[in-house]
Amino acid sequence: MNVNAPRREFSFEFFPPKTPEGMEKLRATRRQLAQLGPTFFSVTYGAGGSTREGTLATVLEIRAEGQHAAPHVSCVAATRESLAEVIREYKAHGIRHIVALRGDLPSGLAVAGELRYASDLVRFIRGATGDWFHIEVAAYPEYHPQARKPDQDLAAFKTKVEAGADGAITQYFYNPDAYFHFVERAQAVGIEIPIVPGIMPINNFSQLARFSDACGAEIPRWMRLKLEGYGDDTASIKAFGLDVVTDLCDRLLTGGAPGLHFYTLNQAGPTSTIWQRLGL
Ligand code: FAD
Repeated sequence: MNVNAPRREFSFEFFPPKTPEGMEKLRATRRQLAQLGPTFFSVTYGAGGSTREGTLATVLEIRAEGQHAAPHVSCVAATRESLAEVIREYKAHGIRHIVALRGDLPSGLAVAGELRYASDLVRFIRGATGDWFHIEVAAYPEYHPQARKPDQDLAAFKTKVEAGADGAITQYFYNPDAYFHFVERAQAVGIEIPIVPGIMPINNFSQLARFSDACGAEIPRWMRLKLEGYGDDTASIKAFGLDVVTDLCDRLLTGGAPGLHFYTLNQAGPTSTIWQRLGL
């Protein structure tokens, strides 16, 4: 199988901090990760624009430090007008790379928004700005939790690509075969854009289990049992996590993945250790 892109792409994702202390901590994280020379940093976006200012402010700070940065944008609980404003604002700042998502409604919020799916958002952005933006979208090797059937989810992914996505970043997973199978199936239906695997380092088992239950990413039984068995022994959890995730990344790159996207959770340590172990 050949899933090689012309150039491998390595990116680090942050969320916009809510406090001045969080901003300061993220600056230190960025200083450390910038030394690794990533292709870009990306900054998440809260449902309904809840982090709109924080996302943009973080992206602008990263750019001021001389790094390439891509804001995320999501259409859930948003009007066309508010999305048009966000897109205009990004464009006015000379931002040319974004990650376009549907987003998830926080529990208790019942406003769906005017655009239903990420494919509608990609079409909307292309309609408003033509080829200005390089647009990345999400992909799900283990399928999205709301998808009724794998084929429907793949069809939804294809719709996003046809709407104008240039690249995709996957939800995290710990089984490399799920990724390779997904890429093969995507290629079989004519999807040619690079599909970069999303990587979640492991630091804390209860947090990882919570995330995974919510987003449908499987923690394989053998990993879950090992992690549970460590109890409060955080040093062993971290050491095991580094071994498992480094091995995953190695297999993905060896198998031809066109890069890696790290969900850093605003921490530099695990990502830089994995990076060094991979010899990147
Ligand atoms: P979609 O592609 O719209 O898919 C959502 C669901 O709808 C899927 O089940 C799909 O199969 C189905 N679907 C899509 N189109 C159709 C159709 N035409 N007919 C029937 N069904 C359809 N969330 C945030 O809030 N902020 C972020 O910054 C953020 N960043 C992310 C970054 C990455 C790399 C990833 C992988 C996820 C991110 N998320 C973020 C989470 C994401 O918003 C959720 O996973 C969300 O549930 C789905 O978003 P999507 O863009 O994949 O949606």
